[in-house]
Amino acid sequence: MTLSLFPSAQIPRHKYITRMHVMDAGSGLIEFECGKCAYNTGMIKDIHTVTENKRGLPCPICNGKGD
Ligand SMILES: [Zn+2]
Repeated sequence: MTLSLFPSAQIPRHKYITRMHVMDAGSGLIEFECGKCAYNTGMIKDIHTVTENKRGLPCPICNGKGD
């Protein structure tokens, strides 16, 4: 008998990732907001590169959390 340990691996990935865009930034803090669901991160620690910030962070709401 074979059990699948990772059934979630069979779920197709989202074709597009909804990304949040920078609303404000400064002093090592940055704020992102999703243009789709309006989720706002508030001022969070800016731990990403400028390039990553410009591209935007994946929205946890629109992209789901895997459960
Ligand atoms: Zn969103």
